[in-house]
Amino acid sequence: KLILGLESSCDETAAAIVTSDRRVLSHRLAGQEAAHRPYGGVVPEIAARAHVEALIPLVEGALADAGVTLADVDAVAATAGPGLIGGVMVGLVTGKALAHAAGKPLVAVNHLEGHALSPRLADPDLDFPYLLLLVSGGHCQLLLVEGVARYRRLATTIDDAAGEAFDKTAKILGLGFPGGPAVERAAALGNPKAVPLPRPLKGSAEPHFSFAGLKSAVVRAHAAGTWSPEDLAASFQAAVVDCLIDRTARALHRAEDATALVVAGGVAANGAVRASLLKLANDNALRFVAPPLWLCTDNAAMIAWAGAERFAAGLTDPLDMPARPRWPLDPSAEAVRGAGV
Ligand code: ATP
Ligand code: MG
Ligand code: FE
Repeated sequence: KLILGLESSCDETAAAIVTSDRRVLSHRLAGQEAAHRPYGGVVPEIAARAHVEALIPLVEGALADAGVTLADVDAVAATAGPGLIGGVMVGLVTGKALAHAAGKPLVAVNHLEGHALSPRLADPDLDFPYLLLLVSGGHCQLLLVEGVARYRRLATTIDDAAGEAFDKTAKILGLGFPGGPAVERAAALGNPKAVPLPRPLKGSAEPHFSFAGLKSAVVRAHAAGTWSPEDLAASFQAAVVDCLIDRTARALHRAEDATALVVAGGVAANGAVRASLLKLANDNALRFVAPPLWLCTDNAAMIAWAGAERFAAGLTDPLDMPARPRWPLDPSAEAVRGAGV
């Protein structure tokens, strides 16, 4: 089967054609970094307008690259949330229009399910259940992925997401936007042991993550003027990795059936994060699976793939499917301390 996927939930506009036997026939992506850079973060109104302008040409490009037409597509998958409502609306409405025009089913995809299933696009041997560390710009969760549409949340952040912490640290250190890759580059030139920084919730009996205190500590350390941005970046990254590993190791005890330790989301592109998780998996005699870097950050191939998995499971959606700016993967999970799910 051929699935067309659309993504527009944040500041990446993307379209891709993926087959149900894991071939990425095409994927096109338009970032909006330049438009948001003056503001040091994503401006929702600017993002929504940019999605409107970029999406249809990207769809046409993706179809052309794959050498197919809309009539060849078996289903249209579009991100229906969570994310910035304006952007989500653009992608979902476009997906509905294309599905209607082609007379093919719509698959409304949860952006987080796109991230969560993306490792299976890259690795045909990755079977359910697996323990997933989902680390992105808006989320930091440990999930037991039991199957398509079956997620059990074991932990989440009580304040900031890991990617958000990278972005804020980049801003504090004047490293630019987007922050994750900038911090990683600076960290490569610094000493990870130079600056004493806290590891919030490390060793805690509760399962969750916390990064707000770490960010505040970076603010104070930076203000002290004692350390270089490189040492601060390296020490910050080491602290994040420490927290991620500690919390993931804890969750492994609650995921005995897991066939693999898996990471996904934008922060999964970080080399130090990947290396430490690989070691944790090895220490626990578990397979480690991480998608290629381009599949970690937002893209439409992961949305098309989640669409392919849902389509194969018979999960399609009506054309009046609403956008869901908030949409937890595990609806049974409780909110923690005022943080999102
Ligand atoms: P969500 O998926 O939670 O809705 P999002 O879609 O904005 O949020 P992603 O595109 O999945 O997030 O990931 C972007 C995040 O990943 C940003 O916070 C970015 O700083 C971070 N990131 C990207 N590359 C790296 C890297 N090499 N090291 C650390 N963080 C990174
Ligand atoms: Mg982005
Ligand atoms: Fe994302």
